[in-house]
Amino acid sequence: MKVLLFDIDGTILLTGGAGKRSMEDAFLSVYNRPLSDVPMAGRTDSQIFRHILRHHDIQWSISEEKKFKQAYFDRLELALSGIAHGARLCPGIHTLLTTLDRHDDCTIGLLTGNWKISAYMKLKYFNIDHYFNIGSFADDNEDRNLLLPAFMRRFNGLYGYMPLKDESFIIGDTPRDVEAALYNNVISIAVASGFASKQELLQSNPQYFFDDLEDTDAFIKTIGLTPCKTS
Ligand SMILES: [Mg+2]
Repeated sequence: MKVLLFDIDGTILLTGGAGKRSMEDAFLSVYNRPLSDVPMAGRTDSQIFRHILRHHDIQWSISEEKKFKQAYFDRLELALSGIAHGARLCPGIHTLLTTLDRHDDCTIGLLTGNWKISAYMKLKYFNIDHYFNIGSFADDNEDRNLLLPAFMRRFNGLYGYMPLKDESFIIGDTPRDVEAALYNNVISIAVASGFASKQELLQSNPQYFFDDLEDTDAFIKTIGLTPCKTS
């Protein structure tokens, strides 16, 4: 069984800034302060939130995070329903997901810095949420490197066995996705469809690199799946 863990932003889709804007608006509405210029790419939402709180000298607590999350989810839902925000799927994603979905010997999952609710809002916007029935999210851990163990436990709970590490892949658009794969001894696939340049990604030493995921056959071959007869 191959296990493919996809990052969301920059790997599967781009929200055209709706995600960042919603976070900024939510922070302003809850705390009446601007979001500081915190680097977001590759970080988990929990990590970003804690970073901003520290910057403003506000004490983190579960209830603070809960309050902020609700404000963010409300705004994200509105922002995604707006027509001119320029959200789009990354090249090749739709064909890749429909192709992978036809393979019984592969599980498609998420390993994302998004909170679970916002992750599914973004996927649902493109009607691709049904491809992902399992994942690991910012709710599980603020440290991206610790999302994989959370995923493995969840997978085991659902299917009754642990995936093999040499058959598990993390697919992402930033060096932090590659780092999470290296840290956990699973296979990294970097794709330059998002927030990091080709050069930055190659410097992070991924096992595999793609400019984008347009070439479905090449991707299938890379992960070692036999092409489907019906494809
Ligand atoms: Mg990303």
